[in-house]
This record gives sequence, C-alpha cells and structure tokens, in this order.
Amino acid sequence: MREVSCPICHASILLDTEDKKGDTVYCTYCGSPLKLAVKEVDDEEEFIAEEED
Ligand SMILES: [Zn+2]
Repeated sequence: MREVSCPICHASILLDTEDKKGDTVYCTYCGSPLKLAVKEVDDEEEFIAEEED
C-alpha cells in the first residue's frame, strides 16, 4: 500500500489505489487538506503530499 507523510504533523496517510497526482487528500491525523504530487527518484515515481494554499 502506498502512503505519504503529512508535511504538517508528519503522520502517515494511506492512499487509495485510485488516488492520483493533483488529488486532494485529508490527513487522517490533523485533518489538513493536502495535494498529492509526484516526485521522481531514480526513475521511480514516489507520491508526496504538499500543503494546500
Ligand atoms: Zn497531518
């Protein structure tokens, strides 16, 4: 299962299989809205969560 780390409280957030880049997810711990982005690391795509404005 994929997961990202909340940039605000650093909790782990599990992603649904249909979650994709640009989607908004909510931190299960602090409830903050976060935007999913993709970071490329060594030719592999890794999801990260960014704080929304
Ligand atoms: Zn959080």
